[in-house]
Amino acid sequence: MRSLSTKLLLAFLGLSLMGVGLASVLARWTTVQEFDRLVLEQAHNNFLNEVTVYYQTHGSWVGVSEYFHQKSQSLQMPPRPGDPGNLRPPPQNVGAAPRQAPVPFILIDQNGYVVHAVPPYRPGEYMSANKLAQGTPIKIGSQVVGTMLATGSAPPLSEQEQQYLDRTNQALLVSALATATIALLLSIVVARTLTKPMRELTRAIRAMAQGKLGVAVAVRSRDEIGELTSAFNQMSADLARANQLRRQMTADIAHDLRTPLSVIGGYVESLSDGVLEPNPARFDVMRQQVEHLQHLVEDLRTLSLADAGELKLNRQRIAPQTLLEQTASMFEHQAAQKQIMLRVEAEPGLPEIAVDEMRMTQVLGNLVGNALRYTPNGGHITLAAKRHAQKIILSVVDNGAGIAPDVLPHIFERFYRADTSRQGESESGLGLAIAKSLVEAHGGALTATSEGVGRGSTFSLDLGLA
Ligand code: ADP
Repeated sequence: MRSLSTKLLLAFLGLSLMGVGLASVLARWTTVQEFDRLVLEQAHNNFLNEVTVYYQTHGSWVGVSEYFHQKSQSLQMPPRPGDPGNLRPPPQNVGAAPRQAPVPFILIDQNGYVVHAVPPYRPGEYMSANKLAQGTPIKIGSQVVGTMLATGSAPPLSEQEQQYLDRTNQALLVSALATATIALLLSIVVARTLTKPMRELTRAIRAMAQGKLGVAVAVRSRDEIGELTSAFNQMSADLARANQLRRQMTADIAHDLRTPLSVIGGYVESLSDGVLEPNPARFDVMRQQVEHLQHLVEDLRTLSLADAGELKLNRQRIAPQTLLEQTASMFEHQAAQKQIMLRVEAEPGLPEIAVDEMRMTQVLGNLVGNALRYTPNGGHITLAAKRHAQKIILSVVDNGAGIAPDVLPHIFERFYRADTSRQGESESGLGLAIAKSLVEAHGGALTATSEGVGRGSTFSLDLGLA
Protein backbone atom coordinates (compact mmCIF):
# COMPACT_ATOMS: atom_id res chain seq x y z
CA MET A 1 0.00 0.00 0.00
CA ARG A 2 2.23 2.81 -1.25
CA SER A 3 -0.19 5.53 -2.13
CA LEU A 4 -0.96 8.14 0.50
CA SER A 5 -4.48 8.55 -0.81
CA THR A 6 -5.17 4.82 -0.30
CA LYS A 7 -3.88 5.08 3.26
CA LEU A 8 -5.98 8.18 3.94
CA LEU A 9 -8.99 6.56 2.29
CA LEU A 10 -8.68 3.43 4.43
CA ALA A 11 -8.10 5.49 7.58
CA PHE A 12 -11.15 7.71 6.94
CA LEU A 13 -13.27 4.74 5.95
CA GLY A 14 -12.18 2.65 8.94
CA LEU A 15 -12.91 5.52 11.31
CA SER A 16 -16.31 6.29 9.85
CA LEU A 17 -17.30 2.61 9.77
CA MET A 18 -16.27 2.28 13.40
CA GLY A 19 -18.32 5.37 14.25
CA VAL A 20 -21.34 4.15 12.32
CA GLY A 21 -21.06 0.65 13.82
CA LEU A 22 -20.74 2.00 17.35
CA ALA A 23 -23.66 4.38 16.88
CA SER A 24 -25.82 1.57 15.45
CA VAL A 25 -25.01 -0.82 18.30
CA LEU A 26 -25.72 1.91 20.86
CA ALA A 27 -28.94 2.97 19.14
CA ARG A 28 -30.14 -0.66 18.95
CA TRP A 29 -29.24 -1.35 22.56
CA THR A 30 -31.01 1.81 23.79
CA THR A 31 -34.09 1.04 21.68
CA VAL A 32 -34.35 -2.50 23.05
CA GLN A 33 -33.82 -1.24 26.62
CA GLU A 34 -36.40 1.51 26.29
CA PHE A 35 -38.80 -0.82 24.58
CA ASP A 36 -38.48 -3.41 27.36
CA ARG A 37 -39.02 -0.70 29.96
CA LEU A 38 -42.12 0.55 28.16
CA VAL A 39 -43.53 -2.98 27.76
CA LEU A 40 -42.87 -3.75 31.44
CA GLU A 41 -44.54 -0.50 32.49
CA GLN A 42 -47.58 -1.23 30.37
CA ALA A 43 -47.82 -4.81 31.68
CA HIS A 44 -47.44 -3.43 35.22
CA ASN A 45 -50.34 -1.00 34.75
CA ASN A 46 -52.49 -3.64 33.08
CA PHE A 47 -51.88 -6.14 35.91
CA LEU A 48 -52.58 -3.50 38.55
CA ASN A 49 -55.87 -2.56 36.87
CA GLU A 50 -56.87 -6.16 36.39
CA VAL A 51 -56.27 -7.24 40.00
CA THR A 52 -57.90 -4.08 41.37
CA VAL A 53 -61.02 -4.78 39.31
CA TYR A 54 -60.86 -8.44 40.43
CA TYR A 55 -60.77 -7.46 44.11
CA GLN A 56 -63.55 -4.94 43.66
CA THR A 57 -65.70 -7.59 41.97
CA HIS A 58 -64.94 -10.44 44.41
CA GLY A 59 -64.23 -8.62 47.65
CA SER A 60 -61.24 -10.95 48.26
CA TRP A 61 -58.34 -12.70 46.49
CA VAL A 62 -60.04 -16.11 46.55
CA GLY A 63 -59.81 -17.72 43.10
CA VAL A 64 -57.45 -15.11 41.67
CA SER A 65 -54.77 -17.66 40.83
CA GLU A 66 -57.30 -19.84 38.94
CA TYR A 67 -58.53 -16.72 37.17
CA PHE A 68 -55.05 -16.00 35.80
CA HIS A 69 -54.43 -19.67 35.05
CA GLN A 70 -57.64 -19.96 33.01
CA LYS A 71 -56.98 -16.65 31.33
CA SER A 72 -53.56 -17.68 30.14
CA GLN A 73 -54.92 -21.01 28.83
CA SER A 74 -57.77 -19.34 26.94
CA LEU A 75 -55.29 -16.85 25.41
CA GLN A 76 -53.08 -19.67 24.15
CA MET A 77 -56.04 -21.44 22.44
CA PRO A 78 -58.01 -19.80 19.69
CA PRO A 79 -61.51 -19.00 21.11
CA ARG A 80 -64.33 -21.21 19.82
CA PRO A 81 -67.53 -19.61 18.69
CA GLY A 82 -69.95 -19.37 21.61
CA ASP A 83 -67.20 -20.03 24.14
CA PRO A 84 -67.47 -17.48 26.93
CA GLY A 85 -63.64 -17.73 27.35
CA ASN A 86 -62.88 -16.48 30.82
CA LEU A 87 -64.90 -17.02 33.90
CA ARG A 88 -65.55 -13.37 33.90
CA PRO A 89 -65.38 -10.82 31.19
CA PRO A 90 -61.76 -9.71 30.95
CA PRO A 91 -61.13 -6.58 32.93
CA GLN A 92 -60.64 -3.63 30.68
CA ASN A 93 -57.01 -2.88 29.87
CA VAL A 94 -56.16 0.75 29.99
CA GLY A 95 -54.65 1.93 26.72
CA ALA A 96 -52.96 -1.34 25.64
CA ALA A 97 -53.69 -4.55 23.76
CA PRO A 98 -53.88 -7.68 25.97
CA ARG A 99 -50.58 -9.51 26.16
CA GLN A 100 -50.30 -13.04 24.75
CA ALA A 101 -47.94 -14.37 27.44
CA PRO A 102 -48.29 -14.79 31.22
CA VAL A 103 -47.52 -11.52 32.97
CA PRO A 104 -44.36 -11.53 35.11
CA PHE A 105 -45.99 -10.35 38.35
CA ILE A 106 -46.98 -12.04 41.56
CA LEU A 107 -49.79 -11.01 43.88
CA ILE A 108 -49.49 -10.94 47.66
CA ASP A 109 -52.46 -10.53 50.01
CA GLN A 110 -52.76 -8.15 53.00
CA ASN A 111 -51.09 -10.74 55.25
CA GLY A 112 -47.99 -11.16 53.12
CA TYR A 113 -48.89 -14.53 51.49
CA VAL A 114 -48.52 -15.10 47.76
CA VAL A 115 -51.97 -15.67 46.23
CA HIS A 116 -50.92 -15.69 42.60
CA ALA A 117 -47.40 -16.84 41.71
CA VAL A 118 -45.12 -17.25 38.73
CA PRO A 119 -41.82 -19.14 39.03
CA PRO A 120 -39.60 -18.97 41.04
CA TYR A 121 -42.30 -17.99 43.59
CA ARG A 122 -44.84 -20.51 44.95
CA PRO A 123 -48.43 -19.91 46.00
CA GLY A 124 -48.79 -19.52 49.77
CA GLU A 125 -45.16 -18.37 50.18
CA TYR A 126 -44.70 -15.70 52.85
CA MET A 127 -43.09 -12.43 51.76
CA SER A 128 -41.08 -10.36 54.21
CA ALA A 129 -41.83 -6.68 54.73
CA ASN A 130 -38.54 -5.87 52.96
CA LYS A 131 -39.62 -7.71 49.86
CA LEU A 132 -43.09 -6.17 50.02
CA ALA A 133 -41.54 -2.71 50.16
CA GLN A 134 -40.16 -3.34 46.63
CA GLY A 135 -43.66 -3.96 45.26
CA THR A 136 -46.63 -1.74 44.42
CA PRO A 137 -49.50 -1.65 46.94
CA ILE A 138 -52.97 -2.38 45.56
CA LYS A 139 -55.46 0.08 47.02
CA ILE A 140 -59.21 0.15 47.06
CA GLY A 141 -59.95 3.63 48.23
CA SER A 142 -57.48 4.21 51.03
CA GLN A 143 -57.30 0.54 52.04
CA VAL A 144 -54.29 -1.51 50.95
CA VAL A 145 -55.65 -4.92 49.93
CA GLY A 146 -52.48 -6.47 48.59
CA THR A 147 -49.18 -5.92 46.85
CA MET A 148 -47.98 -6.75 43.35
CA LEU A 149 -44.34 -7.59 42.78
CA ALA A 150 -42.44 -7.81 39.49
CA THR A 151 -40.44 -11.04 39.04
CA GLY A 152 -37.66 -9.12 37.37
CA SER A 153 -37.68 -9.96 33.70
CA ALA A 154 -39.70 -8.17 31.08
CA PRO A 155 -42.50 -10.16 29.55
CA PRO A 156 -41.72 -11.77 26.18
CA LEU A 157 -42.60 -9.53 23.28
CA SER A 158 -45.79 -9.86 21.36
CA GLU A 159 -45.64 -10.54 17.64
CA GLN A 160 -46.48 -6.92 16.90
CA GLU A 161 -43.80 -5.64 19.25
CA GLN A 162 -41.24 -8.03 17.82
CA GLN A 163 -42.13 -6.81 14.32
CA TYR A 164 -41.70 -3.20 15.46
CA LEU A 165 -38.25 -4.01 16.86
CA ASP A 166 -37.29 -5.83 13.66
CA ARG A 167 -38.34 -2.83 11.59
CA THR A 168 -36.26 -0.55 13.84
CA ASN A 169 -33.25 -2.84 13.37
CA GLN A 170 -33.75 -2.81 9.63
CA ALA A 171 -33.93 0.99 9.57
CA LEU A 172 -30.72 1.12 11.63
CA LEU A 173 -28.99 -1.23 9.22
CA VAL A 174 -30.12 0.78 6.19
CA SER A 175 -29.00 4.08 7.74
CA ALA A 176 -25.64 2.50 8.73
CA LEU A 177 -25.12 1.31 5.16
CA ALA A 178 -26.14 4.70 3.74
CA THR A 179 -23.79 6.50 6.15
CA ALA A 180 -20.94 4.12 5.26
CA THR A 181 -21.52 4.80 1.54
CA ILE A 182 -21.51 8.58 2.10
CA ALA A 183 -18.40 8.18 4.28
CA LEU A 184 -16.71 6.24 1.47
CA LEU A 185 -17.55 8.94 -1.09
CA LEU A 186 -16.44 11.72 1.24
CA SER A 187 -13.21 9.84 2.04
CA ILE A 188 -12.45 9.58 -1.68
CA VAL A 189 -13.06 13.31 -2.15
CA VAL A 190 -11.01 14.31 0.95
CA ALA A 191 -8.15 11.93 0.14
CA ARG A 192 -7.99 13.22 -3.45
CA THR A 193 -8.20 16.87 -2.36
CA LEU A 194 -5.40 16.33 0.15
CA THR A 195 -3.09 14.46 -2.16
CA LYS A 196 -3.65 16.47 -5.34
CA PRO A 197 -1.35 19.38 -4.34
CA MET A 198 1.25 16.85 -3.21
CA ARG A 199 1.19 15.15 -6.58
CA GLU A 200 1.52 18.55 -8.25
CA LEU A 201 4.43 19.43 -5.96
CA THR A 202 6.16 16.15 -6.76
CA ARG A 203 5.77 16.81 -10.50
CA ALA A 204 7.17 20.34 -10.04
CA ILE A 205 10.15 19.08 -7.99
CA ARG A 206 10.91 16.46 -10.66
CA ALA A 207 10.76 19.19 -13.31
CA MET A 208 13.20 21.27 -11.22
CA ALA A 209 15.52 18.30 -10.85
CA GLN A 210 15.60 18.13 -14.66
CA GLY A 211 16.73 21.74 -14.78
CA LYS A 212 13.40 23.50 -15.35
CA LEU A 213 13.71 26.21 -12.72
CA GLY A 214 10.99 28.66 -11.72
CA VAL A 215 8.04 26.25 -11.95
CA ALA A 216 5.11 27.29 -9.75
CA VAL A 217 2.32 25.18 -8.28
CA ALA A 218 -1.19 26.61 -7.79
CA VAL A 219 -1.90 27.37 -4.11
CA ARG A 220 -5.38 25.92 -3.49
CA SER A 221 -5.78 26.27 0.27
CA ARG A 222 -4.63 28.32 3.22
CA ASP A 223 -3.75 25.31 5.36
CA GLU A 224 -0.34 23.70 5.93
CA ILE A 225 -0.33 22.24 2.41
CA GLY A 226 -1.08 25.71 1.03
CA GLU A 227 1.83 27.06 3.09
CA LEU A 228 4.10 24.29 1.82
CA THR A 229 3.11 25.11 -1.76
CA SER A 230 3.75 28.85 -1.23
CA ALA A 231 7.14 28.06 0.33
CA PHE A 232 7.97 25.83 -2.62
CA ASN A 233 6.93 28.53 -5.11
CA GLN A 234 9.10 31.04 -3.25
CA MET A 235 12.05 28.64 -3.28
CA SER A 236 11.51 27.87 -6.94
CA ALA A 237 11.39 31.57 -7.85
CA ASP A 238 14.49 32.29 -5.71
CA LEU A 239 16.39 29.43 -7.32
CA ALA A 240 15.43 30.62 -10.80
CA ARG A 241 16.54 34.12 -9.87
CA ALA A 242 19.80 32.89 -8.32
CA ASN A 243 20.47 30.87 -11.45
CA GLN A 244 19.71 33.88 -13.63
CA LEU A 245 22.04 36.03 -11.47
CA ARG A 246 24.79 33.41 -11.70
CA ARG A 247 24.53 33.37 -15.49
CA GLN A 248 24.44 37.12 -15.60
CA MET A 249 27.45 37.30 -13.29
CA THR A 250 29.48 34.93 -15.46
CA ALA A 251 28.60 37.03 -18.50
CA ASP A 252 29.50 40.23 -16.59
CA ILE A 253 32.83 38.84 -15.41
CA ALA A 254 33.64 37.79 -18.98
CA HIS A 255 32.66 41.24 -20.22
CA ASP A 256 34.64 43.06 -17.53
CA LEU A 257 37.73 40.94 -18.24
CA ARG A 258 37.47 41.32 -22.00
CA THR A 259 37.70 45.11 -22.16
CA PRO A 260 41.01 45.60 -20.29
CA LEU A 261 42.47 42.43 -21.78
CA SER A 262 41.71 43.56 -25.31
CA VAL A 263 43.18 47.00 -24.55
CA ILE A 264 46.38 45.46 -23.12
CA GLY A 265 46.46 42.82 -25.88
CA GLY A 266 46.10 45.51 -28.59
CA TYR A 267 48.90 47.64 -27.14
CA VAL A 268 51.26 44.68 -26.67
CA GLU A 269 50.68 43.56 -30.27
CA SER A 270 51.12 47.05 -31.72
CA LEU A 271 54.25 47.70 -29.63
CA SER A 272 55.86 44.37 -30.55
CA ASP A 273 54.98 44.85 -34.23
CA GLY A 274 56.50 48.32 -34.08
CA VAL A 275 53.19 49.85 -35.19
CA LEU A 276 53.23 51.96 -32.04
CA GLU A 277 56.20 53.54 -30.38
CA PRO A 278 56.53 52.74 -26.66
CA ASN A 279 56.05 55.87 -24.57
CA PRO A 280 55.12 56.53 -20.87
CA ALA A 281 51.50 57.44 -21.73
CA ARG A 282 50.91 54.09 -23.46
CA PHE A 283 52.49 52.15 -20.56
CA ASP A 284 50.31 54.16 -18.20
CA VAL A 285 47.15 53.06 -20.04
CA MET A 286 48.29 49.44 -19.82
CA ARG A 287 49.13 49.83 -16.10
CA GLN A 288 45.64 51.24 -15.44
CA GLN A 289 44.02 48.29 -17.22
CA VAL A 290 46.15 45.83 -15.22
CA GLU A 291 45.17 47.63 -12.01
CA HIS A 292 41.53 47.41 -13.03
CA LEU A 293 41.92 43.67 -13.59
CA GLN A 294 43.69 43.22 -10.24
CA HIS A 295 40.91 45.20 -8.57
CA LEU A 296 38.24 43.03 -10.17
CA VAL A 297 40.00 39.80 -9.26
CA GLU A 298 40.46 41.02 -5.67
CA ASP A 299 36.75 41.96 -5.45
CA LEU A 300 35.70 38.56 -6.74
CA ARG A 301 38.01 36.84 -4.29
CA THR A 302 36.59 38.84 -1.37
CA LEU A 303 33.05 37.96 -2.44
CA SER A 304 33.77 34.26 -2.82
CA LEU A 305 35.50 34.19 0.61
CA ALA A 306 32.49 35.95 2.16
CA ASP A 307 30.11 33.52 0.40
CA ALA A 308 32.05 30.58 1.80
CA GLY A 309 32.08 32.19 5.27
CA GLU A 310 35.88 32.14 5.19
CA LEU A 311 36.51 35.85 5.36
CA LYS A 312 39.05 36.39 8.17
CA LEU A 313 38.18 39.40 10.29
CA ASN A 314 40.76 41.06 12.47
CA ARG A 315 38.36 42.65 14.95
CA GLN A 316 39.59 45.46 17.14
CA ARG A 317 37.76 47.89 19.36
CA ILE A 318 37.39 51.31 17.88
CA ALA A 319 35.23 54.37 18.56
CA PRO A 320 32.62 54.90 15.80
CA GLN A 321 33.64 58.54 15.50
CA THR A 322 37.29 57.61 14.82
CA LEU A 323 36.20 55.20 12.09
CA LEU A 324 34.06 57.85 10.40
CA GLU A 325 36.75 60.53 10.67
CA GLN A 326 39.39 58.23 9.18
CA THR A 327 37.11 57.52 6.21
CA ALA A 328 36.20 61.18 5.76
CA SER A 329 39.87 62.20 5.74
CA MET A 330 40.50 59.79 2.84
CA PHE A 331 37.97 61.69 0.71
CA GLU A 332 38.64 65.25 1.83
CA HIS A 333 40.56 66.07 -1.33
CA GLN A 334 37.90 64.68 -3.73
CA ALA A 335 35.11 66.42 -1.79
CA ALA A 336 36.96 69.74 -1.91
CA GLN A 337 37.40 69.39 -5.68
CA LYS A 338 33.59 69.09 -6.08
CA GLN A 339 32.87 71.70 -3.40
CA ILE A 340 30.98 69.02 -1.51
CA MET A 341 30.71 69.53 2.22
CA LEU A 342 31.83 66.30 3.92
CA ARG A 343 31.07 66.21 7.65
CA VAL A 344 31.07 63.72 10.51
CA GLU A 345 28.28 63.77 13.11
CA ALA A 346 28.65 61.24 15.92
CA GLU A 347 26.50 61.18 19.07
CA PRO A 348 28.76 61.95 22.04
CA GLY A 349 29.76 59.08 24.36
CA LEU A 350 29.06 56.23 21.97
CA PRO A 351 30.57 52.89 23.05
CA GLU A 352 33.34 51.30 21.01
CA ILE A 353 32.56 48.69 18.39
CA ALA A 354 34.62 45.59 17.60
CA VAL A 355 35.23 45.56 13.86
CA ASP A 356 37.94 44.79 11.33
CA GLU A 357 39.10 48.35 10.87
CA MET A 358 40.49 47.84 7.39
CA ARG A 359 37.36 46.05 6.10
CA MET A 360 35.00 48.55 7.72
CA THR A 361 36.95 51.46 6.25
CA GLN A 362 36.65 49.68 2.88
CA VAL A 363 32.84 49.52 3.34
CA LEU A 364 32.50 53.14 4.44
CA GLY A 365 34.96 54.24 1.74
CA ASN A 366 32.84 52.50 -0.87
CA LEU A 367 29.69 54.25 0.39
CA VAL A 368 31.37 57.67 0.53
CA GLY A 369 32.96 57.08 -2.91
CA ASN A 370 29.50 56.34 -4.36
CA ALA A 371 28.00 59.35 -2.58
CA LEU A 372 30.70 61.61 -4.06
CA ARG A 373 30.04 60.16 -7.50
CA TYR A 374 26.27 60.63 -7.32
CA THR A 375 26.21 64.03 -5.58
CA PRO A 376 26.47 67.13 -7.73
CA ASN A 377 28.92 69.94 -7.03
CA GLY A 378 28.02 71.98 -3.97
CA GLY A 379 26.13 69.13 -2.33
CA HIS A 380 26.81 67.65 1.09
CA ILE A 381 27.57 64.24 2.51
CA THR A 382 27.22 63.35 6.19
CA LEU A 383 28.84 60.42 7.96
CA ALA A 384 26.80 59.85 11.12
CA ALA A 385 26.91 57.51 14.11
CA LYS A 386 24.18 56.95 16.67
CA ARG A 387 23.00 54.36 19.14
CA HIS A 388 19.69 52.54 18.78
CA ALA A 389 18.89 49.99 21.52
CA GLN A 390 21.78 47.48 21.48
CA LYS A 391 23.04 48.63 18.12
CA ILE A 392 25.33 51.26 16.70
CA ILE A 393 24.07 52.67 13.43
CA LEU A 394 26.59 54.21 11.06
CA SER A 395 25.18 56.02 8.07
CA VAL A 396 26.31 57.80 4.93
CA VAL A 397 23.76 60.38 3.85
CA ASP A 398 23.97 62.45 0.67
CA ASN A 399 21.69 64.93 -1.03
CA GLY A 400 22.61 63.77 -4.51
CA ALA A 401 20.98 61.85 -7.35
CA GLY A 402 18.92 59.56 -5.13
CA ILE A 403 17.76 56.11 -6.19
CA ALA A 404 14.53 55.30 -8.05
CA PRO A 405 12.18 52.92 -6.14
CA ASP A 406 12.41 50.28 -8.90
CA VAL A 407 16.22 50.39 -8.77
CA LEU A 408 16.56 50.33 -4.97
CA PRO A 409 15.92 46.58 -4.46
CA HIS A 410 18.69 45.69 -6.93
CA ILE A 411 21.60 47.90 -5.96
CA PHE A 412 23.20 45.26 -3.70
CA GLU A 413 23.23 42.69 -6.49
CA ARG A 414 26.53 41.72 -8.03
CA PHE A 415 27.45 43.63 -11.18
CA TYR A 416 24.32 45.76 -10.90
CA ARG A 417 24.78 49.21 -12.33
CA ALA A 418 21.74 51.43 -12.59
CA ASP A 419 23.45 53.55 -15.23
CA THR A 420 24.43 51.03 -17.90
CA SER A 421 26.18 53.75 -19.92
CA ARG A 422 28.95 53.70 -17.31
CA GLN A 423 29.81 50.06 -18.02
CA GLY A 424 33.44 49.55 -18.67
CA GLU A 425 34.49 52.38 -16.38
CA SER A 426 36.54 51.54 -13.34
CA GLU A 427 33.38 50.80 -11.29
CA SER A 428 32.70 47.10 -11.38
CA GLY A 429 29.14 47.11 -10.01
CA LEU A 430 30.48 44.91 -7.20
CA GLY A 431 31.06 47.70 -4.65
CA LEU A 432 27.77 47.48 -2.75
CA ALA A 433 27.62 43.68 -3.04
CA ILE A 434 31.04 43.49 -1.36
CA ALA A 435 30.11 46.13 1.24
CA LYS A 436 26.98 44.14 2.16
CA SER A 437 28.92 40.87 2.42
CA LEU A 438 31.55 42.51 4.64
CA VAL A 439 28.92 44.05 6.95
CA GLU A 440 27.10 40.72 7.16
CA ALA A 441 30.40 38.97 7.95
CA HIS A 442 30.51 41.33 10.97
CA GLY A 443 26.99 40.16 11.96
CA GLY A 444 25.46 43.46 10.88
CA ALA A 445 23.16 44.65 8.12
CA LEU A 446 23.54 47.19 5.33
CA THR A 447 20.42 48.87 3.99
CA ALA A 448 19.67 51.72 1.64
CA THR A 449 16.81 54.20 1.54
CA SER A 450 16.05 57.04 -0.80
CA GLU A 451 13.21 59.50 -1.04
CA GLY A 452 13.47 59.14 -4.81
CA VAL A 453 15.42 60.45 -7.77
CA GLY A 454 17.14 63.77 -7.03
CA ARG A 455 16.35 63.59 -3.32
CA GLY A 456 19.50 61.99 -1.95
CA SER A 457 20.25 58.54 -0.52
CA THR A 458 20.97 57.10 2.91
CA PHE A 459 23.04 53.96 3.47
CA SER A 460 22.81 52.56 7.01
CA LEU A 461 25.04 50.01 8.71
CA ASP A 462 23.54 48.30 11.76
CA LEU A 463 26.29 46.89 13.93
CA GLY A 464 25.87 45.06 17.21
CA LEU A 465 27.64 46.46 20.30
CA ALA A 466 30.96 44.85 21.17
P1 ADP B 1 29.20 50.76 -8.92
O1 ADP B 1 30.53 50.14 -8.93
O2 ADP B 1 28.53 50.80 -10.25
O3 ADP B 1 29.12 52.05 -8.18
P2 ADP B 1 27.87 49.76 -6.65
O4 ADP B 1 27.58 48.37 -6.27
O5 ADP B 1 28.76 50.54 -5.76
O6 ADP B 1 28.35 49.73 -8.14
O7 ADP B 1 26.47 50.52 -6.80
C1 ADP B 1 25.43 49.93 -7.51
C2 ADP B 1 24.45 50.99 -7.99
O8 ADP B 1 23.83 51.63 -6.87
C3 ADP B 1 25.10 52.10 -8.74
O9 ADP B 1 25.19 51.79 -10.09
C4 ADP B 1 24.14 53.26 -8.50
O10 ADP B 1 23.10 53.23 -9.42
C5 ADP B 1 23.53 52.98 -7.16
N1 ADP B 1 24.10 53.82 -6.06
C6 ADP B 1 25.03 53.48 -5.17
N2 ADP B 1 25.26 54.49 -4.30
C7 ADP B 1 24.48 55.52 -4.68
C8 ADP B 1 24.26 56.86 -4.18
N3 ADP B 1 24.93 57.34 -3.12
N4 ADP B 1 23.36 57.64 -4.83
C9 ADP B 1 22.69 57.17 -5.90
N5 ADP B 1 22.83 55.90 -6.40
C10 ADP B 1 23.72 55.10 -5.81
